[in-house]
Amino acid sequence: MADETKREEGRKLRERARALAVTSPHLNDDVVVACMDLVGRAGASGFEIGYLHDDVPVAEAGWYAHAQYQGARLIAQDHQSPTGAALALAERLLAGATCRCLQPVTLSDGQAGCRWRLVGQRWEPACDVASIKVSGARGDHAAMRRALAESGNRAQRRAAKRKGGRHG
Ligand SMILES: [Zn+2]
Repeated sequence: MADETKREEGRKLRERARALAVTSPHLNDDVVVACMDLVGRAGASGFEIGYLHDDVPVAEAGWYAHAQYQGARLIAQDHQSPTGAALALAERLLAGATCRCLQPVTLSDGQAGCRWRLVGQRWEPACDVASIKVSGARGDHAAMRRALAESGNRAQRRAAKRKGGRHG
């Protein structure tokens, strides 16, 4: 049931992205889709991207993106384009998160940790992990950090089990 709901939400988000791409020539589709994908993986119950002001140049429209969680809402606002808003929201989600390789997520080469990059329509870690799975109750902004950490812990436990098996 939950999976069904998620698929439906995913479908709606993709449709929304396509609609935005068609109606806004300034939209960098990949960045927005990647942000929605990340927001979805982080267990958000909603995502919205839009602008506040009509009848002004696009860059002055006040673009925002927000992700809705049960306990909180994460917002990036006052951007000059939907791309900028989507990028900022993704960066806020990733900042301070722990990757499932157990390293802190970093978005710049100069910092220690697991470097995440925007690859096409997805945010991908530098480590060789397939995907992030968010399990359990949908939560607040901390849900992603927990999910990322738990994924890492599971990988570690599996590794420990395999190791134990060889010896015992
Ligand atoms: Zn990693």
